[in-house]
Amino acid sequence: RAKSAGGNRFELADPEADARAITRHGLTTALPTALDRGEFFIEYQPLVHLGDGSVRGAEALVRWLHPQHGVLGPDRFIPLAEHTGLIVPLGRWVLEQSVRQARDWRDRHAEAGPLRINVNLSPCQLTHPGLVQDTVEILEGAGVDPDALCLEVTESALIGADDDLLKPLRRLAEMGVDIALDDFGTGYSNLANLRRLPVSVLKLDRSFTQSMQQFPADPVDLKIVEGIVSLAHSLNLAVTVEGVETGAQAEQLRILGCDTAQGWYYARPGPPERLHELALVDATG
Ligand code: C2E
Ligand code: MG
Ligand code: MG
Ligand code: MG
Repeated sequence: RAKSAGGNRFELADPEADARAITRHGLTTALPTALDRGEFFIEYQPLVHLGDGSVRGAEALVRWLHPQHGVLGPDRFIPLAEHTGLIVPLGRWVLEQSVRQARDWRDRHAEAGPLRINVNLSPCQLTHPGLVQDTVEILEGAGVDPDALCLEVTESALIGADDDLLKPLRRLAEMGVDIALDDFGTGYSNLANLRRLPVSVLKLDRSFTQSMQQFPADPVDLKIVEGIVSLAHSLNLAVTVEGVETGAQAEQLRILGCDTAQGWYYARPGPPERLHELALVDATG
């Protein structure tokens, strides 16, 4: 990182940066056909109710099984997909797979209660005119209720959003789809602005969870989280926390009033069968 501060000339002399650039170029070239070749797959990470520990749903997280490079995380290819426009068909594919998965859970674990599926939306999908219709078609095609779906949009994607950008989200929200504000607290959005957004869930960024590592946690961070939670609840928003890695964090965040948690402490993202197991344990135990 220090080296890139020296400018491009310096970076070219950096073999690692060089390799990264070559890989990036290779990935960009391979990306358009990867969807047709069936190289993407989805892992699901459970969302757990902090009050009673029950599994309430799961977030869909896409991965690319690249023939040469192995499994690549979304941070490696989502920016490229956004740049090349592949994000629209890829995002639609993720949504379709995830909604089918939600139906499969519902059919196999009626006793576990309604499991909801969270799907990430890129800003490019927000501005794509087909978003609402695609979503309606996918839900109807699978016979899944809109309220089983939560679409996650990052706070930064909605900062300064005008009405045109919010319109599709409003329509989805009116249908019963939940909208979550992802990575909340990392942008600089005006808190009062929240009222204007059609969101029903705040996903508190992992950085807050990290600062809950120590017990007792940093008093300023505690105050901030406490404030966010009370504001969220007064606006009828649920609060989900991401990146929970320890029991101490979970306990601290539960005491602070957070509703739902997600993180390695409960489960890493995994194949859909793993979620079947968790839902089953939950329903019987
Ligand atoms: P995100 O939506 O904020 O997802 C949470 C990320 O935190 C995931 O990283 C997840 O694996 C990771 N995580 C979960 N629990 C823990 C934990 O306890 N500790 C730590 N250190 N990390 C944890 P992942 O899977 O690499 O995804 C990164 C980002 O890529 C996501 O962040 C999301 O913004 C984006 N993404 C993933 N799937 C999709 C997709 O289908 N479409 C779009 N547009 N973006 C996606
Ligand atoms: Mg997310
Ligand atoms: Mg997040
Ligand atoms: Mg995040």
